[in-house]
Amino acid sequence: MADPLAQVETPECSAKGCRAAAQWALRWNNPRLHTPERRKTWLACDTHRETLGDFLGARGFLRDVTPFTPSPTLEG
Ligand SMILES: [Zn+2]
Repeated sequence: MADPLAQVETPECSAKGCRAAAQWALRWNNPRLHTPERRKTWLACDTHRETLGDFLGARGFLRDVTPFTPSPTLEG
């Protein structure tokens, strides 16, 4: 039987309908809902880094964008 840890899916882009592998982590905070230190994370592929970033940026939510690297222990 499969190792349960092996069933962890490759992190995907958070954009609706996008199944591309995540390449970027967008860290954001909604001051109306979250304490200032709190960070929500959206994952984005190369294409949607801008789309999602614009969405968050337009609302003043975007705090940080960092390259997202899946676990370095994974192959490839
Ligand atoms: Zn995407």
